[in-house]
Amino acid sequence: LYDLTGKRVYVAGHRGMVGSAIVRRLQREGCEILTADRAVDLREQAPVRDWFAANRPDAVFLAAARVGGIDANDRYPAQFLYDNLMIEANVIDAAAQFGTSRLLFLGSSCIYPRMAPQPIVEDALLTGPLEPTNEWYAIAKIAGIKLCQAYRREYDCDFISAMPTNLYGPGDNFDLATSHVMPALIRKAHEAKLAGDAALPVWGSGKPLREFLHVDDMADACVFLMRHYSGESHVNVGYGEDISIADLARTVAKAVGFAGDIAFDATKPDGTPRKLMDSSLLRGMGWRPSVDLETGIAGAYAHFLEGGARTVS
Ligand code: GDP
Repeated sequence: LYDLTGKRVYVAGHRGMVGSAIVRRLQREGCEILTADRAVDLREQAPVRDWFAANRPDAVFLAAARVGGIDANDRYPAQFLYDNLMIEANVIDAAAQFGTSRLLFLGSSCIYPRMAPQPIVEDALLTGPLEPTNEWYAIAKIAGIKLCQAYRREYDCDFISAMPTNLYGPGDNFDLATSHVMPALIRKAHEAKLAGDAALPVWGSGKPLREFLHVDDMADACVFLMRHYSGESHVNVGYGEDISIADLARTVAKAVGFAGDIAFDATKPDGTPRKLMDSSLLRGMGWRPSVDLETGIAGAYAHFLEGGARTVS
C-alpha cells in the first residue's frame, strides 16, 4: 500500500475535467497537492524539467492531455498526436529523473482495436487495427502506457497506467465542435428545450454503444490504484454497463425536460460500434463505481446550468 499522507502529489492537468476531479478527491488524503501554472507548457522539455527539479513531487497523476470528441480527433490529427506524445514523454522522463516514486498515467479506452472482443480486456491492446476517427490520440496514449512499462523495466520506476472509459461530469467541455457525446447532448437538449425545437439533433445512427463513468468515480479509482496497484499491465476503469447513443439521448432528454423527438444526422460518423471495457482486474482489487447514470446526468446538467461549463478544451 502506498500511503499518500504527507506526500507531495503533483496533478498534471489540474484544470481539466479529470485533473480537477483528482484534486477534489485528493483533498481527503492528507497530502500536499502540487499544480503547475500555465507558464509550464508540458509540451516543452526544459520547463517541465525545471519544474520537477524545483518541486520534486513524490507522486504524480498525469491527467494532462489534448482531448476532444470524435470530430476534433479527426480534424486535428497532428495536435492530438504531437501534443500528447510530448506531454507524456516530458512528464514521465522528468518524474524518473527527479525522484518521483509513483506515477499514474491516464489513457483512454480508444487505445483498443476497433473490433476488440467485448467487453474489452487489458490484453486486447495491440491485437488489431484502431478506430480511424481517433487513432492519433490512441497511438499517443499507447505510447504513454509503453513509456510507463519501459521506465519500470529499465529504471525500476513504479509507474502505472489507468484506462478510463468515456467520462462525464463537472468540468466537462460543452463546446459542440470539440466535445464528447454526453456534454454535447446535455447542451443540445437544453437549447432545444429553450428554443421549443421539434427534435434533438444526434450525430450518426444512434446505434453505437458506449459506457459512461462519472469523473468523480474515475478520480476515486485513480487514487485507489495509486495506493493499491503496482504492475506492468495498464488497468481498465469502467462502469460495467453500456448504453446505445439513441437511449442515451432519450435519457438526457428526460433529465433536461426536453419532450420532442430525436433526429439522427447520418452525415456525422458513428465511430467504433461498441466500446465496453472489462474492468474485472480493478473490481478484483475491491473498487466499485458509486454514481449511476441517471444521478450522474442530473448532476452534470445542474452543473451546466450553474455555468460551470468550459467552452474550450
Ligand atoms: P467516441 O466515444 O470516441 O466515439 O467519442 P464521442 O463521445 O465524441 O462520440 C460517441 C458517439 O456519440 C459517436 O457515435 C458519435 O457520433 C455520437 N454522437 C451523437 N451526437 C453527438 C454529438 O453531438 N457530439 C459528439 N461528440 N458525439 C455525438
